[in-house]
Amino acid sequence: MKRLEIKDIEKCVGCGLCMFACSRKFASHPEIGNSSSAILPVSLSGFERGATVIFCKACSEPPCAQVCPTGALKPKKGGGVVYIERLCIGCKYCVEACTLNAIFEREDGKIAVCIHCGYCVNYCPHGVLEYREVKT
Ligand code: SF4
Ligand code: SF4
Repeated sequence: MKRLEIKDIEKCVGCGLCMFACSRKFASHPEIGNSSSAILPVSLSGFERGATVIFCKACSEPPCAQVCPTGALKPKKGGGVVYIERLCIGCKYCVEACTLNAIFEREDGKIAVCIHCGYCVNYCPHGVLEYREVKT
């Protein structure tokens, strides 16, 4: 299966283009912003130390899915989850359960989680991300 991976984190400048691309693809209404993004660039305490990107690392036994009371997060074959938005009641148990803080709270009360579609890779101008085949 193909998965979003970090290729070279040293090149990340925290520009947020991956985040804006993700948000625009998945927002229910067209928007320029980051409220629907499932990937988050963060500074590592100042520009000298660079930046990194946080996104779902596709756990093989996802704790986020285990705590979801409605089945809105379904484990995917090979790791990670599928998000079934209509089942989500916005309890945020999954946000607490993800040890990587890779589930993000949307402004509408729902959540955003990476589904490993690889769309953001096309928008990173620095070659930080890649979408590649992984063995599961
Ligand atoms: S969102 Fe977090 S807990 Fe769920 S599969 Fe991804 S990394 Fe694992
Ligand atoms: S916020 Fe939604 S997806 Fe997350 S645990 Fe609650 S119902 Fe499930």
